[in-house]
Amino acid sequence: MAEEKDPEVHEIVLEPDAELRFEVESKLDTITLELKVGLAEIFGTELVKGKPYTFTTGAKLAVFTWQGCTLELRGKRNLCYIAKETPMMFYLNCHACLEQLRMKAETESEVKRGPITMVVGPTDVGKSTVSRILLNYAVRMGRAPVYVDLDIGQGQISIPGAIGAILVERPADVEEGFPHNAPLVYHYGHTSMDKNHQTFNLLVNKMAEVVHERLQTNRKSNISGIIINTCGWVKGEGYRHLTHAAQAFEVDIILVLDQEKLYNELVRDMPNFVKVVLLPKSGGVVERTKKFRMNSRDARVREYFYGGKTPLHPHSFDVKWSDLRVYKIGAPPLPDSCMPLGMKAEDNMTKLVAVQPGPNLLHHILAVSFASSTDDDVITTNIAGYICVTNVDVENQTLTVLSPQPRPLPDTLLILSDVQFMDSH
Ligand code: ATP
Repeated sequence: MAEEKDPEVHEIVLEPDAELRFEVESKLDTITLELKVGLAEIFGTELVKGKPYTFTTGAKLAVFTWQGCTLELRGKRNLCYIAKETPMMFYLNCHACLEQLRMKAETESEVKRGPITMVVGPTDVGKSTVSRILLNYAVRMGRAPVYVDLDIGQGQISIPGAIGAILVERPADVEEGFPHNAPLVYHYGHTSMDKNHQTFNLLVNKMAEVVHERLQTNRKSNISGIIINTCGWVKGEGYRHLTHAAQAFEVDIILVLDQEKLYNELVRDMPNFVKVVLLPKSGGVVERTKKFRMNSRDARVREYFYGGKTPLHPHSFDVKWSDLRVYKIGAPPLPDSCMPLGMKAEDNMTKLVAVQPGPNLLHHILAVSFASSTDDDVITTNIAGYICVTNVDVENQTLTVLSPQPRPLPDTLLILSDVQFMDSH
């Protein structure tokens, strides 16, 4: 690394197949990167030469180059290093295999659709990153795949506690990720699957059904296929959720990151036509502490309401308790012996239960459903978006809500989420 005169500006030369890994830890720090010579990409998105990219607290990234490049980095360099060993060639090979399957779907009439790929593995192995790389490479080949995110802990497409799907037609923005135009979102309401297995599986089934239906009407996407990102819970019930999702989406390929045990279990349990592939994780993937995860959930909700690089201006207004119809998913468990004949206690977990508005809603997120009555199948109806209860006035029986849309709230049902957000704006 040849240093320039300004101590905060560094020129970094990367050889072919190497990557510069960096983190921004402190709230006060930022790192700005500029590609000066050659070609480079961040998780599959090509950098534009001469354009400065700024990264703020929490960023953990790698700039990879196939051909070699020179970068200019502004900011503290102590959390940066160059790695010459990366698994990018494995990931590129995966992309090439997917591309072949897409070409088959395009040219051979008996192949009805492009590949459906699920990315699995324990926590912090780079599942979201590999999904992003594969989506970006597909888009750069002129494809338009669907990205399905089943990781309720991070909630990349909407907010934590939701599963979502988007059509990807452009590479991810280096700083902001994929644009979330017209996402398909289902509300689950918890950040962990063990809170309500039945509802989670129900939503995965519904998501799979709707995504498949939509692909039928969009030939380009149907050929491009689906990339499904999953949650890092891979043992016991978590494993059963993975196999359930694989079945629901009719996956063709499962990419297993970094865990031979999981790979072997899937090879054993999946039908023969599902190709299970073991891939190495990148040495750059950073382990995230519980606290970091909580902070990034919070940051994700803040970004949902207030935007990121492009700021958003949410609305704040009061609504009367009596004007709201709030529900939650799942009734408190009853012993089987107390259930009506023919019903099991777990059936209660997919019941809609009315919630009386009051101080219990303070700081909670509420999903704005597209369902307008409990006669609809509310749980499996997708949602329009989220609001957050920022204040409860018991005397006047009103709530103050933070909403991406101006008042009034649509006359539909609201579904309570376990997820809370303290609005500090
Ligand atoms: P989770 O268990 O939460 O689902 P995951 O397996 O999806 O995690 P990622 O979110 O893809 O893991 O990666 C974890 C972190 O590591 C992210 O902040 C990501 O940006 C970072 N990361 C991934 N690959 C690299 C790399 N090669 N160099 C530096 N940072 C990386």
